[in-house]
Amino acid sequence: MLKDRYLLFINGQHVESESGEYFDTYNPATGEVIAKVAKATRADVDKAVEAARNALENGKWARYPASRRAQILNRIAAIMRERFDELCKLEVLNSGKALSAAKGQVMQAIEDFELYAAAALAFEGRTKPVPKGFFHYTVKEPVGVCAQIVPWNYPLMMAAWKIAPALAAGCSIVLKPASLTPITALVLAEICHEAGVPEGVINVVTGSGADIGAYLVEHPGVDKVAFTGETTTGKDIMARASETLKRVTLELGGKSPNLVFEDADIDAAVDGSLFGIYYNTGQSCEARSRLFVHESIYDEFLHKFVEKAKKLKVGDPLDPSTHIGAVISAKQVDVIDSYVRLAEREGARVLYGGERLTVPGFEKGHWYAPTVIVDVTNDMRVAQEEIFGPVVVVMKFRDEKEAVRLANDTIYGLAAALWTKDFARAHRVAGQLKAGVVMINNPFSAFPGLPFGGYKQSGFGRELAIESLELYTETKSVLAYIGEKPLNPFGV
Ligand code: NAD
Repeated sequence: MLKDRYLLFINGQHVESESGEYFDTYNPATGEVIAKVAKATRADVDKAVEAARNALENGKWARYPASRRAQILNRIAAIMRERFDELCKLEVLNSGKALSAAKGQVMQAIEDFELYAAAALAFEGRTKPVPKGFFHYTVKEPVGVCAQIVPWNYPLMMAAWKIAPALAAGCSIVLKPASLTPITALVLAEICHEAGVPEGVINVVTGSGADIGAYLVEHPGVDKVAFTGETTTGKDIMARASETLKRVTLELGGKSPNLVFEDADIDAAVDGSLFGIYYNTGQSCEARSRLFVHESIYDEFLHKFVEKAKKLKVGDPLDPSTHIGAVISAKQVDVIDSYVRLAEREGARVLYGGERLTVPGFEKGHWYAPTVIVDVTNDMRVAQEEIFGPVVVVMKFRDEKEAVRLANDTIYGLAAALWTKDFARAHRVAGQLKAGVVMINNPFSAFPGLPFGGYKQSGFGRELAIESLELYTETKSVLAYIGEKPLNPFGV
């Protein structure tokens, strides 16, 4: 299942990089090298873009009838279902995430392809009544060659969020996975090919973001860049893409608020808030990492939250009962720990966790305890910056107005959750939160078909829904003269 070596995927072939060099990819739970991966050069990026452009311009994909594209997208999903256990295991081995989390993400990746198979059939142009003698229609054309750059926290799911709508729209693709987690994206490209996606339509290049990622973004052969990753990287990408005015969509970082009102079902809010922050080891763009609790229930809520946090099982990611898997890298553990220490220096207090862990049998892996930080104010760096680990900062609020003000007091605007039994308040507050995704009395932020994306510096564009197809197409407006007499606009 796991290969020793993974090559680039260009023009339907597994190929060595031009330099013949490789880099190591690891299992974060054991710290061991699990495979060698071809290190792409700029020349490889040129080849991948050329293959994608040829496929777009000379190939058939963009001109396949929607029904044929839909069939192939459904076939991709079917192969993924057959290989479900293998895909989950590969994802766990390369990312260190708990199997329970990987299963949901792989299933969602499958459902994405099914969603866009259906969407491809439903997506169409329109016609408008125009003055007599004229006829108008719009055509949705593929936007072109798409550079798709994805992060390490949801390797397969993010690749699927990008590949599925691009294929449905008839685009061709050069995908660059994160160097920490390249394996499942390469396997997915292979599956797409097996399902009938013609050669050159999907290409995968693996290697450094700062080098080949940036080169890909600037490449004149690329028409659109779809990026998911850090906000700072997103800014760099937007600047580079501006040179040739590429279409850009950005899914960036977050510091999402979680509001627990005094009338909430406290036990449900505790359970949902735990999941909201500790799912995927807290390495989620939509992690609800700022927890705001009404002052009247603060002590009770916090007590219950910590008691439940103590029950979370951190350890072997392949054990189905594990809740929290490994942190992606030793470097990321350092980042998490440095934020916790910074919180203490800023005057906050670690109520629970706040330390590196050693997991028996996985001593060389990267682990961090689920952590609760209190005595925080919203202006502290730990309340404003994305930590990307299992760390929640907890604050009190007095009333609804203050809750909304604090929730929105951040540069980010990806997701927000709120817990209340008051129906009117739930929707009143949802309407005021500056976030692309709002969860009321539940911790789940992403389902195929529901648009996902950010406000403010969490990016722009939406994924996972029909709206994404707009972002992978250009609209051509065609106005035809069909009158009997020739037109003579100047009357000369
Ligand atoms: P990152 O920005 O470091 O890297 C993301 C990808 O960009 C990687 O493939 C990397 O190699 C590449 N890259 C890095 N520098 C580049 C450059 N200059 N030009 C082109 N490509 C470059 O992000 P990460 O650490 O891999 O992922 C974590 C981040 O992703 C977090 O901030 C998280 O919030 C965000 N994220 C957002 C969403 C969302 O939907 N909004 C989803 C998942 C993750």
